[in-house]
Amino acid sequence: MKNQLARSDSLSEELKDRCAREPVSLSVFMGEAVSQYYATRDPFGASGDFTTAPEISQMFGEVIGAGLLHYWQGMGAPEDIALLELGPGRGTLMSDILRVFNPLLNPPVFLVEQSPVLKSAQAARLSAFSPQWMTDMQRLPPRPLLVVANEFFDALPIRQFQKTKDAWRERGVGWDQGRGFHPVLLPLDGMFSHHLDESFPENKTDDIFELCPSGIAMMGTLAAHLKKFGGCAIVIDYGHIVTALGETLQAVRGHRFASPFVEPGEADITAHVDFGALAATARKEGASVLSLTTQGELLDAWGIGARADRLLQAADARQAADIRSALRRLTDAGEMGTLFKALIIGAMDKNR
Ligand code: SAH
Repeated sequence: MKNQLARSDSLSEELKDRCAREPVSLSVFMGEAVSQYYATRDPFGASGDFTTAPEISQMFGEVIGAGLLHYWQGMGAPEDIALLELGPGRGTLMSDILRVFNPLLNPPVFLVEQSPVLKSAQAARLSAFSPQWMTDMQRLPPRPLLVVANEFFDALPIRQFQKTKDAWRERGVGWDQGRGFHPVLLPLDGMFSHHLDESFPENKTDDIFELCPSGIAMMGTLAAHLKKFGGCAIVIDYGHIVTALGETLQAVRGHRFASPFVEPGEADITAHVDFGALAATARKEGASVLSLTTQGELLDAWGIGARADRLLQAADARQAADIRSALRRLTDAGEMGTLFKALIIGAMDKNR
């Protein structure tokens, strides 16, 4: 059900004034729009704007939970292990993971969440596990962690750079009466422009490069933590394995594509995740990339087919159709199977 508590129309007015005075970078615009969007609703499901893997089927979280348990055992089953989820949405994924964990262990649960609306949904769903919330990645608990982040990194604000005839410029957002919010080009430091030319020697006029500074920073914090205390992190999202040029910014409203510039805060604005950049950051911090593959391959390898078969044994005809359809949506190449990638990082020297 779409939750419209605490909705406020003030964001558009405030942003309008700011962008009319002086254009802001796309990352400022996206950061404001995304915070407002999640702060004012539960966007998931048929009546919302989009549906995520854990909301499609319990099989997703169960298979991820089994994989995390396997890593925990590989680490020598440390008793001080904790679970951490970034951007837990309705708490569905964590609840499915905990159902798999519970016969064996009952680890403390930490959640990174900014939205008050979704925090209450998580509190209701996970009350039996007394989760602790943080709004960002500072002050992670000093212990080994099993971390999961599904469709979290795509919501973090990106900067966009566009090649013009002579140099790279940064994309920003302005506002005027005639055009409303609209893209503009802002100056860019010459050194950075030169760096982009060197990184992408084949670039052409109008090419776009996207960078997610807060995603990189969070991955760096996480990797350094795993290196120090042990554990692993699974990041699943739509995106690309090799860092490349291209524009991927998109907005979705009511399960349809919308313009990111119309009514900011009312549509879900995301960008594809640059898994190549996240993996490089993890390595730079001394963590290992344990796996980087597609969602379909990961779920197949971790036994989602067997889990589906088991559920089918007890299912009536309608439930069986739902299970088969969910399995297809999660793993088929034409659905989420290939577009979504899964990155697993860990600290091999800590994980005995
Ligand atoms: N993982 C869930 C929800 C994905 S939607 C699922 O798969 O269903 C993105 C989630 O990240 C939401 O819970 C949103 O409120 C949260 N989020 C987005 N940006 C955030 C930020 N900068 N800091 C903390 N949480 C954020």
